[in-house]
Amino acid sequence: MKQKRVLFLYTGGTIGMDLARGHEGEEHATLGERPKDLVAEVPALRQLACVDTEPVFNYDSADLQPHHWVTLALRVHRAFAAESYDGVVVVHGTDTMAYGAGLLAFLLGPLPGPVVFTGSQRPFSDIRSDAVRNLVDACLVATLPVPEVCLVFGGRVFRGVRATKIDAWGFEAFASPNCRSIVELGIGWTLNDHVRKPAPLLPLDARVDPHVLSLPVFPGLNPQLLIGALRGGTKGVVLSTYGTGTMPRLEGSLLPVLEEAKALQVPVLVVSQCNRGFVELGRYAGGAEALERGAISGGDMTVEAALAKMMVALGRFTEKAALRAFLERDFLGERS
Ligand code: ASP
Repeated sequence: MKQKRVLFLYTGGTIGMDLARGHEGEEHATLGERPKDLVAEVPALRQLACVDTEPVFNYDSADLQPHHWVTLALRVHRAFAAESYDGVVVVHGTDTMAYGAGLLAFLLGPLPGPVVFTGSQRPFSDIRSDAVRNLVDACLVATLPVPEVCLVFGGRVFRGVRATKIDAWGFEAFASPNCRSIVELGIGWTLNDHVRKPAPLLPLDARVDPHVLSLPVFPGLNPQLLIGALRGGTKGVVLSTYGTGTMPRLEGSLLPVLEEAKALQVPVLVVSQCNRGFVELGRYAGGAEALERGAISGGDMTVEAALAKMMVALGRFTEKAALRAFLERDFLGERS
């Protein structure tokens, strides 16, 4: 059978860093001057696919900004549209991987093939590194009929818009609390039935507006600070509320913030601070009164997915009803 064509796009992260020790013997990872060619380091990847590799960036992912992911989305789009790759692997730092996967998913929309994010918790060059396993698993998934932006890590395959980094130490660094793995990897592999169907690539609308504020509600949060941020040019808010979507309505009430946002036509998308479960704004008085003032339920979306969706929505829609409808509906399996 003809081998599948997979493009590896390298962006940096721990996977390509070098380990050094400070004076006290403490360990730190540093970026080399040039991107690492990890595909050359793992020639066995060529048993899985016909692989090409390309450095796009060489950053700790903490230094990636939305415009970097727009560049990446354009590169992925070209790989499918003009160069006929079957799949793409994005080698990426873990710290913002879920944000990047989210933004690429919303920018690219329905896909003809897989876009697989991966990285590692320990550098490739380290004897205990998890890099080879993750690269091999990612390459395999990039050859499968999994036409989604996904995140492969620690032997698990998550939908990109459902994944979140939960562990800064362990090798199973990611979870997808409200959506099962889309592929099971064992001695073989099985596609789960909620994997999306392949779809023709759409023209890429690369507009993103990052004038977004994302913050948790917490006891003592001063509503005036938020009102100031709204008046200072915030165009969208992702509010991580308590439990099923509630917030203060008595002392320190956030309801005036909702009123200000409504007056300024700034959408407020409500997600939960809890990893599992979903927002039901009507369940408690704080949420119900926020709903009356225009708050939009984010259902069981992760913060990362909600933020990416908000940035894309603000970039794409000027008409407020269209913007709201986009935020409310499920677009690519990001909410149940
Ligand atoms: N700081 C690193 C990064 O996100 C962490 C990692 O890759 O694991 O680039």
